[in-house]
Amino acid sequence: MEETTQNTQVMHREDARVFANRYRCSVCWGGLVCDVITNDIHDENYLNASVHCSNPECTGSDFVTAKYVEKRRSENDSDFYEAKRNLKEALGLPDPNAGKTADQLLHELGF
Ligand SMILES: [Zn+2]
Repeated sequence: MEETTQNTQVMHREDARVFANRYRCSVCWGGLVCDVITNDIHDENYLNASVHCSNPECTGSDFVTAKYVEKRRSENDSDFYEAKRNLKEALGLPDPNAGKTADQLLHELGF
């Protein structure tokens, strides 16, 4: 892999396609895109591609695995709901389940 600009990596086209599916931008966690780079020998098997963040305004130049992003987002969602539950009274957040019976709550959950 060869670095060409601050936020672009160049590699073989097939490697770039696999890389873009498995990795995300380390700054915004957004998807990656591949831009095929023309070469001098005009053989598709030897075309290179640049891989970079899909967000044109992002300055991210490093990558993290898609699994890492999924794990961190899941942890963040969990932290958000825990904080919301713990700070509900302090922040004056409305209880979306206030006044509902146990049967109504079970029905909303699909039981
Ligand atoms: Zn990005």
